[in-house]
Amino acid sequence: MLEKDIEKTFYSEQQIQERVAVLGEEISREYQDKFPLVVGILKGAVPFLSDLVRAMPIHMEMDFMDVSSYGNATVSSGEVRILKDLSTVVEGRHIILVEDIIDSGRTLKYLVDLLKHRKAASVKIVTMLDKPEGRVVDMAADYVGFEVPNEFVVGYGLDYAEDYRNLPYIGVLKPEIYENA
Ligand code: 5GP
Ligand code: MG
Ligand code: MG
Repeated sequence: MLEKDIEKTFYSEQQIQERVAVLGEEISREYQDKFPLVVGILKGAVPFLSDLVRAMPIHMEMDFMDVSSYGNATVSSGEVRILKDLSTVVEGRHIILVEDIIDSGRTLKYLVDLLKHRKAASVKIVTMLDKPEGRVVDMAADYVGFEVPNEFVVGYGLDYAEDYRNLPYIGVLKPEIYENA
């Protein structure tokens, strides 16, 4: 079972759901007349996006992108490549980029630049988690769920070796999980 691998919980399922409801309300107010294109970054943003859009009772469209940064499992390297692109035309659209976490900021910097290059009317960022100590490039989210310290977190979309994404809360793994890998 997943539970026994978790050392500590940062944000519980209830805390997450309450925060998502507030974010959904705030974002809806800004976008109610804009028919935004909500773009989820696969795979980590899926649980968050799924809860967030159901807390947004406005007209919207959804699409997904999959990007990968080269490098190992726990440190992101900086280079970004597109594994799956949008199937929607971006020109003239108000884009809401939905991410699981901003760490170095490189992934979102790359995506914001790309969407602006494709002539989006506007691009804003919603991230469930912000890890400010990890920042390498100048990038700030417009809406943030919670801040986390400079530790490797899992759950609510965030993986370790593709595992733990379905954990309904956010926490840190026991050290032996890495030692046994
Ligand atoms: P950035 O380009 O901002 O450095 O990287 C963001 C991506 O790195 C996230 O979408 C996520 O996939 C991964 N990442 C950064 N920090 C963590 C973390 O603490 N836990 C997990 N599971 N992934 C992380
Ligand atoms: Mg991500
Ligand atoms: Mg990952």
